[in-house]
Amino acid sequence: PPGSRLPLPTSHDELRALAQEFNALLVRQEEVSDRLRRFTGDAAHELRSPVASIRVQAEVAVTNPDPELAQETLSDILTEAERLSSLLDGLLSLARSDAGEVPPAEPVEVVTEVRDAVERLPAGAPETRVSTAVPQAWASAEHAEVQLVLDNLLRNASRYANGQIVVSVLAARGLVRVVVDDDGPGIAPEHRAKVFDRFYRVSDDRARTSGGTGLGLAMVAEAVRRRGGRVRVGESPDGGARFEVSWRAAR
Ligand code: ADP
Repeated sequence: PPGSRLPLPTSHDELRALAQEFNALLVRQEEVSDRLRRFTGDAAHELRSPVASIRVQAEVAVTNPDPELAQETLSDILTEAERLSSLLDGLLSLARSDAGEVPPAEPVEVVTEVRDAVERLPAGAPETRVSTAVPQAWASAEHAEVQLVLDNLLRNASRYANGQIVVSVLAARGLVRVVVDDDGPGIAPEHRAKVFDRFYRVSDDRARTSGGTGLGLAMVAEAVRRRGGRVRVGESPDGGARFEVSWRAAR
């Protein structure tokens, strides 16, 4: 644990154990800096594409006097600027979490949160049904964090679903679980382990044209895991995607 110190060795065996511990620590350290290096590189790469696009569009606008074209170009610039802005928001939120800035846990009533999140879906989203056997389910989490998790899962589901989304809330064995099922194309098994990685996208084009950042599920996983909860992805009964998150129940 952070801040803990190993006792000084007094025997050969203890010295050996200490060396082993030290080596394990070095390996972990290398893994952490590898991950950090990869993340920084990926982030720079991701930020570069909207910036490059803004630049090209602005050049077009500056050199071409046609007002109709200018309108179109400005609207594209705005879209890219918004994308840049959500990327930065995501990066900042992950950085805060990486730095250990985690708000204290409080009891959050998840059934209400789910209904509110469904209300927040944009007009024209697929039909979304909430299914729960319990009137209330209190999780040990934080309010904004639960909203982030639900908004991201629902937004993804509505992006990919063909016609129907089902959100189930279950409370049992000291856990509060939310399961989001959609009837879209689903996620092939070989991608499932990676969809929670930062910037990972199953199909680059599909996500890009729908304005994704590739950070949504990484933030979901981070928000849930830092409370000791779990995230999982699998297949829904309709063959679409199933995302499942669970928190410890608040007492
Ligand atoms: P993005 O911002 O690209 O949506 P996410 O982290 O939210 O990033 O999701 C990562 C990738 O996982 C998406 O690009 C998409 O390929 C896939 N994905 C997420 N949710 C679903 C879903 N409900 N159905 C199918 N694919 C999904």
